[in-house]
Amino acid sequence: MKKNIVAGNWKMHKSLDEGLKLVSEIATLVKEAPVNEVEIIIVPPFIHLTALNKLLQDNDPIQLGAQNCNEHDSGAYTGEVSAAMLKSSGVVYVIIGHSERRAYFNESDELLAAKINQVLNNGLIPIFCCGEPLSVRESNSQEDFVFTQLTNSLFHLSKESFGKVVIAYEPIWAIGTGVTASAAQAQEMHKAIRNHLASHFGQEAAGNCSILYGGSCKPSNAKELFALNDVDGGLIGGASLNGTDFVDIIRSF
Ligand code: PEP
Repeated sequence: MKKNIVAGNWKMHKSLDEGLKLVSEIATLVKEAPVNEVEIIIVPPFIHLTALNKLLQDNDPIQLGAQNCNEHDSGAYTGEVSAAMLKSSGVVYVIIGHSERRAYFNESDELLAAKINQVLNNGLIPIFCCGEPLSVRESNSQEDFVFTQLTNSLFHLSKESFGKVVIAYEPIWAIGTGVTASAAQAQEMHKAIRNHLASHFGQEAAGNCSILYGGSCKPSNAKELFALNDVDGGLIGGASLNGTDFVDIIRSF
């Protein structure tokens, strides 16, 4: 079933000490006034996962996510991390297809389809990112652009496998820019994405899929965004690096 989710993507930020401190702060704030019905996910750099997993063991409902994984089971891929390794380190969610990986590491839709398979085959949950650059938005072709990303990387899945996937709609022009999609823009795209998913996987499967918004989401706009019919939470970059801001966003439901 569809869940409310707030995931904090730290990208390449925080030393180990800083990361431990931030997660302790978030866990304390969440414990002080428990949050209902929201899955909280922390997505730190790979190297902090094991230490944070130890710290979090007694602190449900905070789950661990990873920012990426390799598309192969194992092998001679220096510098890479497999889905099985992530699973063995306590990871539950894996971000796949973040726009920064598509842009700086040339990740194609086809490669992302293989990564999605790895994540699902290892019993992990993918958070699949999609979203258009500014030039596409300016030519009003954002729906076609995002539909192609979804079709190419997800439509090979069975309905059962698709049932485990979380989607994050992240317009690239809103990521790290301070410019957020308006409530109307976010709702329009989330609804269009759900309809596109329904055209292939059926209404029920699409209705049960959590679709997160990402792009300069912060305490001041999270409430309005999370209240939208087809927005089921957020993938948070910059604001997830501050414990109070991140917990304020979690409490925006
Ligand atoms: C992101 O990178 O996924 C993101 C949403 O970043 P920010 O919140 O900083 O725009």
